[in-house]
Amino acid sequence: MSALPQHIISDLKAVVGDQWVVVEKRAIERYLYDETAYGVRPQPAAEVVVVKPGSTEEVAEVLKVANKHKVPVYVRGGGTGLVGGAIPTKPGIVVTLERMDRVVIDSENMVAEAEAGATLGKLIEEAEKHNLMFPAHPGDEGASIGGLIACNAGGSRAVKTGVMRNYVLGLEVVLPTGEVLKLGAKTIKNNFGYNLAHLLIGSEGILGVITRAYLRLYPKWSYAATVVIPFDSRVNAFRVAKKLLFSGFIPLALEYFDRRVIENSAKYLGLQWPIKEGEYFLMVMLAEPLEDVLFLELEYIDRVAREEGSLEPFATQREDEQKTLLKIRSEIFSSLKSETFDILDTTVPLGNVDRFIEKIIDIERRYGIWLPVYGHVGDGNVHVHVLNYQGFSKDQLEKIAEDVYDAALMLGGVITGEHGIGYARKKYVKKLLGSAWVETMRKLKAALDPNNILNPDKVIPEE
Ligand SMILES: Cc1cc2nc3c(=O)[nH]c(=O)nc-3n(C[C@H](O)[C@H](O)[C@H](O)COP(=O)(O)OP(=O)(O)OC[C@H]3O[C@@H](n4cnc5c(N)ncnc54)[C@H](O)[C@@H]3O)c2cc1C
Repeated sequence: MSALPQHIISDLKAVVGDQWVVVEKRAIERYLYDETAYGVRPQPAAEVVVVKPGSTEEVAEVLKVANKHKVPVYVRGGGTGLVGGAIPTKPGIVVTLERMDRVVIDSENMVAEAEAGATLGKLIEEAEKHNLMFPAHPGDEGASIGGLIACNAGGSRAVKTGVMRNYVLGLEVVLPTGEVLKLGAKTIKNNFGYNLAHLLIGSEGILGVITRAYLRLYPKWSYAATVVIPFDSRVNAFRVAKKLLFSGFIPLALEYFDRRVIENSAKYLGLQWPIKEGEYFLMVMLAEPLEDVLFLELEYIDRVAREEGSLEPFATQREDEQKTLLKIRSEIFSSLKSETFDILDTTVPLGNVDRFIEKIIDIERRYGIWLPVYGHVGDGNVHVHVLNYQGFSKDQLEKIAEDVYDAALMLGGVITGEHGIGYARKKYVKKLLGSAWVETMRKLKAALDPNNILNPDKVIPEE
C-alpha cells in the first residue's frame, strides 16, 4: 500500500464517498503516467491517492482539503499529454474527472456544454448526432475536454477553425483554493471584464481545475474531401503548401509527412498506405457547406500541385477512406513511440517551414541519424522525433533536441506549438522566456494558489 496519511484519506472520503478514493497500488498505477516519451518522462511519486469527484462542488471540497493539509493536487484528464503535465511528481492527490463526462448539445445555438471529463471522442460523437461538428482533432480521441483546454491543444484540423482557445466560449473553473468561477457565456462575443477564461486556457493544470466548458460547434459541413498529394521532391511539397496557404485558401487541415514515417504508422495499425507513388506527401482536408465550393477547391489544389511538380494527387470524398487516412496520420506518434527518446513540438513562422526542414536534414547528416519529421505544416507546427539511437548517451540525445530547438529559434520559431511545457520542457523556460516571464508567472500563481498545491512542479521553474 502506498498512500497519504490516513487522516487526509478520511477527509477525502468524507467529500466524495469511500468508493471514489483509490489507495490500492495496482489500481493507482494507470493514473501515474501519461504519454510522454520515455526519455523525458518524470518519475511519479510513490505516495499517491486517486480521487474521483462527481461534481464541481466535490472538486471544490477536495481542493479545500488539499489546502488544509498542504498536499499537492494533480488534475488528470485522459492522460494523453506529451510533457508529463499530469504525472504526480510529488506525493499527493491525483484528481481524475472521469465521472464528470456529460455532454449536452444545444443545437439551437451550436454550442456544446461539456463536463471536463468527457473525451474528445464523445464530444465529436454527440455533436454529430445533432448534425453538428467539433472540427478540432488533436490526435488522441481519448483526451478529455479539460485536458484539451488546459493544454490549448491544436492538432491537424486547426488551420480553418483554430486551436482549443478558439472554441471555448465559457468555462467553469475551480480555483486552487476552492472558489468556483463561472466565465463567459454561450455567446460568440463577450467583452465583459478581463478574459480570465483565456488565462486558464493553456494553463496546464497549474492555475485552476476546469470542470465544464461551453464549446463552439460548427454545422456539419455536408461536403468533405481529403487529398493526398505525393511528391518526389520535398522542396516541391513545401512550395505547394506555401502557395496554397498564401493564396488565401483555408483548408481544414494541411499536413506534411514522408513515406518512411507514414508507412511505419500504417504498418503499426495493420494497414497499408494506399498511395504508391512519391516519397513526400501533403495531406489536405477540406470541409464545405456547398458541393460546388468543394469541387472548385479540389480543382484548385490539383492545378497548383501539378504546376509545382507533384505526382498524381489522390482525392477522396468517401467517409471511410478519409477516416482511414486521418487515422494513419494520427497514429504516426504512437507507431514511433517505443523507439522515441523525445517528441519535439517545434513551430516556425509559416514562411520558414521549408527552411526549418532543411536545417533538420543538416542535423541528420551531422549526426548520421534519422529524425522523423511530420506535422501540421498549415500551422508551421512540425514534430521531430529524436529516437534512441544506438551508442548515443542521454546527454547526446538531449543535445540533438537542443540543436532542433536552436534551428526553430533561429527561424523565429518556438519550442512548443501545442504540447505545452509541463514537466519535460520546464528546463528551457528561464532560458527562452526570461526571468521577467518567470517572475510574472510566479506572482500570478501565488495570487491564485497561495499554498502552491496545484500541479506544483510544472511549467514554472523552481527558484
Ligand atoms: C497519439 C497522440 C496524438 C496527439 N496529437 C496531438 C495533436 O495533434 N495536437 C495536440 O495539441 N496534442 C496532441 N496530443 C497530446 C494530448 O492529446 C493533448 O496534450 C491533450 O490536450 C491532453 O489531454 P488529456 O485530457 O489527455 O490531458 P492529461 O494528459 O490528463 O493532462 C494534461 C495537462 O492538463 C491538465 N489537466 C487535465 N485536465 C484538466 C482539468 N480538467 N483542469 C485543469 N487542468 C487539467 C493536467 O494537469 C496536465 O497538466 C497527442 C497525444 C497522443 C497520445
